[in-house]
Amino acid sequence: MKDWIDNENKVCAQNYYPLPFVLSKGEGVWLWDMEGNRYLDMMTAYSAVSLGHCHPRMIKVLNEQARTLCVTSRAFHTNTLCPFLEKLCAISGMDMALPMNTGTEAVETALKAARRWGYRYKKIPEDKAKIIVARDNFHGRSITIISFSSHDQSKKEFGPFTPGFIEIPFGDSEALRHAITPETCAFLVEPIQGEAGIQMPREGYLKACSQICKENNVLLILDEVQSGLGRTGQWFAYEHEKIKPDGLILGKALGGGILPVSVFLSRQDVMGVFEPGSHGSTFGGNPLAARIGLEVLNILEQEHLIERSKALGEMLLQGLKKIKHPFIREVRGKGLWVGVEIDPLQMTGRKICEAYAKNGVLTKEVHQKVLRFAPPFVIKPEEIQFAIDQFANTLNSLG
Ligand code: PLP
Repeated sequence: MKDWIDNENKVCAQNYYPLPFVLSKGEGVWLWDMEGNRYLDMMTAYSAVSLGHCHPRMIKVLNEQARTLCVTSRAFHTNTLCPFLEKLCAISGMDMALPMNTGTEAVETALKAARRWGYRYKKIPEDKAKIIVARDNFHGRSITIISFSSHDQSKKEFGPFTPGFIEIPFGDSEALRHAITPETCAFLVEPIQGEAGIQMPREGYLKACSQICKENNVLLILDEVQSGLGRTGQWFAYEHEKIKPDGLILGKALGGGILPVSVFLSRQDVMGVFEPGSHGSTFGGNPLAARIGLEVLNILEQEHLIERSKALGEMLLQGLKKIKHPFIREVRGKGLWVGVEIDPLQMTGRKICEAYAKNGVLTKEVHQKVLRFAPPFVIKPEEIQFAIDQFANTLNSLG
């Protein structure tokens, strides 16, 4: 496998730091490398593979649609888009959707919608619209999105940046109240900050934010690219607080582990700011993607995978909490999305991930110190137990 890695490194930019093996096959919760070693996938491509690798229903639909119609661009109507978006709107309670491909594009779409809505509905003076964001956010890596990142690593030497963003601490609703001015059009936030290390705000935070946004005629836009579609044991993480946002961004799992499929969903007045030519993407909403997106929603519903995420998530959380080891600082999470924070002075996340992989389980650290456990929803209880046992063994083998 070393030759493969060396050869890849010659031709592929080094903007990632993969673990040292070469994967060649996936099925359900399992992955295999080129030497035939089998690994349990607790990473699921940052939640993009929530249904598991090569889900048989996804492969069937992929084949059917691939033989029928794949890409036309939205210059033409197709018979796959409406069923997909109708179902997504019904599930989320939103009026309309704008389909894109990656999470980053859907976030960009939301930012554009919010700014225009601010100019048209709040009469914010031209070029003055402000969007409030949370510290340690992760919403993608375009120039505009990294403009409001708190992390130097993603910003260094990529300036100049896009203005118009105000950062407040995550989890502090009073900071939101104080940051709002007549120029504020939206507050963009992840209900649980994934890439910041599965950071969970206090209970009641989102509810308070929703109330503050309503009082001030500010759009509450939730980025559920990672937390949405069952990951936290509900369709959407905001359901835990019984609120409804004004805008919702989805991606990752919507592509069924096969294609990038993302959307921005919102109310009619917000989505109405887009007229022909104002925004678009050649591949957004293509027939193959739309058919796949619809099948993802059907599978989540018909195979009761969200209930499964809730029930098995509890088993995962409690099992990891039971491991007592000096490296572990905190175990936190919701649904099948658990972060284990380790003491970086005692051990690096990278070393744990490398040793864990040797014990047959794959995951990746965030910011050196949080290990994520986010398996596909089709995982079985005994496989969760395997991940927990191997994690304990891994920590014990390291010190
Ligand atoms: N928003 C959130 C919350 C994410 O976690 C990510 C990716 O990790 C993105 C947006 C960007 O998605 P993509 O990598 O598909 O562009």
